[in-house]
Amino acid sequence: MPVAAVGAVEGVGVSEIVVERRMRGFISLTAHPDGCAANVRDQIGVVRAGVDGRYANALVLGSSTGYGLASALAACFGLGAATLGVCFEREPEDAKTGSAGWYNLAEAHRQAAAAGLHLETINGDAFSEAVKDRVIDALRRRFGQLDLVVYSLAAPRRSGPDGESWSSVLKPIGSSHRGKGIDLRRRQVVELSIEPATPEEVDATINVMGGEDWQAWIDCLDDAGLLADGCRTVAYSYIGPRITAPIYRDGTIGEAKKHLEATAGRLRHRLAARGGGAWVAVNKGVVTQASAAIPAVPLYLSILRPVMSEAGVDEEPIDQIVRLFADHLGPGRTPTLDAESRIRLDDRELRDDIQAEVLRRWDAVTSENVGELADLDGYTRAFNQLFGFDVDGIDESLPTDIARVVPSA
Ligand code: NAD
Repeated sequence: MPVAAVGAVEGVGVSEIVVERRMRGFISLTAHPDGCAANVRDQIGVVRAGVDGRYANALVLGSSTGYGLASALAACFGLGAATLGVCFEREPEDAKTGSAGWYNLAEAHRQAAAAGLHLETINGDAFSEAVKDRVIDALRRRFGQLDLVVYSLAAPRRSGPDGESWSSVLKPIGSSHRGKGIDLRRRQVVELSIEPATPEEVDATINVMGGEDWQAWIDCLDDAGLLADGCRTVAYSYIGPRITAPIYRDGTIGEAKKHLEATAGRLRHRLAARGGGAWVAVNKGVVTQASAAIPAVPLYLSILRPVMSEAGVDEEPIDQIVRLFADHLGPGRTPTLDAESRIRLDDRELRDDIQAEVLRRWDAVTSENVGELADLDGYTRAFNQLFGFDVDGIDESLPTDIARVVPSA
């Protein structure tokens, strides 16, 4: 694939438009390039202040948004690692904007080039053999052995090597679930009623979001001789509170996360023999495209965020990842593990005092008092910011160039 210039080519093919918001449910059909760029610059600032040490080479799977973007920025701008990211994003086309992840990476590439850092991106289906081959080829030609592999895919579907495909579902297991949720547009607390998953749906969710693909990545990288002695790999999990347990930890996605955690155990055994390791980091609940789709989670986060902020302990993905690298995974750091060998970054979310206050508000919340007990505006703003909207200092009424480029590895 050709390596294109970063940013719009001066005077040629510059497509300036006023970007309009077009939200559909928990998806935004458009993204604002300037807002996304500002978000990325902010995150780079946090990384530069909080991460030190050096890794030579890092691979981040799911590098364009959420926890994976934060990980790629921390690896590249914090640890100075030559960083290869893989993501599945939409390029801009004529008057159609690209996706937020596209614009995030366009800015990350621009900043990396300006700082003399090595960042490359492969935009394609990370589950596929073709993308695995492209990654191996790129690593062989321009990187070298990896010190760090971050697995941060959040995907609704996966196709396997033999043409089979699976869709993940977000459902309880065993019995139906009735509980609170939020209709953000109408600002109404609603009752969710979700039927239990079939055994096939449980298996399909494990196939998409469990550890099989992480294992496949480590296997093919290892077979290609691309894991350095001491290589560390991490995948991200979530446990969450009792409130979301029926739909999250005890539901289909929780089964997938347990499979991911079991995979870490198998990989750790293998990598530890060469001075490295594999872990799952249990991260805190944050507003991302993936979490917005999980029933009950938007209401839970609308309550959690102000409670954690008032206690002075709220964190964004970038703060969590800085903590992950600084305390556990960076060069020379020894991860601190729980009884099940997991790194816990959800310690503040699950603190007794935080959860007691969240539970008090959760039990009391109704459509009438939701404005006092939850921060719906804050949640909506954080959600819009994922797509580059509502970002401080960005005038959305001005036209902007949407034809930004992510150089393709
Ligand atoms: P996200 O939606 O922000 O990011 C998902 C990433 O995966 C993007 O970079 C996207 O391009 C990429 N991706 C999706 N499908 C792909 C494919 N087929 N090929 C290549 N790339 C693909 O998600 P997130 O919330 O940051 O989640 C990342 C991980 O963190 C997940 O494992 C999630 O369960 C975990 N996690 C999330 C939360 C949370 O509250 N958001 C909390 C704890 C753990």
